[in-house]
Amino acid sequence: MTDAHCHCRTGADRHFVCEPFGGEAGEGDARFLGVHPWAFLDGASPSDGWLERLRERLAADPSAGVGEIGLDRLKERNIPDAMRAAFRAQLALAAELRRPAVLHGAKCWGEVVKEVEDCSSGRAPAYIFHGFSRSAGLLPRIFALNGFVSVGPAVLNDHAVNYRELVKAIPADHLLAETDRTSPDEVGPGVGEIVAEIARLRGVAADALAAQLDANAALFLV
Ligand SMILES: [Zn+2]
Repeated sequence: MTDAHCHCRTGADRHFVCEPFGGEAGEGDARFLGVHPWAFLDGASPSDGWLERLRERLAADPSAGVGEIGLDRLKERNIPDAMRAAFRAQLALAAELRRPAVLHGAKCWGEVVKEVEDCSSGRAPAYIFHGFSRSAGLLPRIFALNGFVSVGPAVLNDHAVNYRELVKAIPADHLLAETDRTSPDEVGPGVGEIVAEIARLRGVAADALAAQLDANAALFLV
């Protein structure tokens, strides 16, 4: 089983490990390098030269993707200019280097989709819209970008009625599952529990769904 978005290794067979938070990818995992939008909150920003350093690290690891990058309205209502500029720069880098990218868009998914569509450097080969939880109306635009939607622990919350309806509406060939764990000690469901709940909601067998999601994860990396 593949954990399509996390920041550390846990029980899955394969992990897509994104910076930051220090987790290391292991054998068979995929590694994603990038600067998270939270690094730009409250006027903070990474030290000068971060974009060039990122470029160098990506050049040194041709198998690495770009992530997690994006915009955020969860922590602060307004998106800082530096956050948006950093997202654009990293989208351009992913397109230029032809690396798949993992995207964050808490409470601003429409803007994230638009930024990807408008990226003047073109497109990365594929994108994961990690934890995407907005209306199904954006899905056709996400799929036109070769986007995959990864479903997180919120699917286990039976009060998340709209989210669970969305999870049913995502075509199986664009679906992934993720824990978004930042530490192995973090309390939360494993990817197996998340996949089992998605399967239950969709009325399909969990092992067949798991196989489909592994195949999707492999396609995302091609
Ligand atoms: Zn994350």
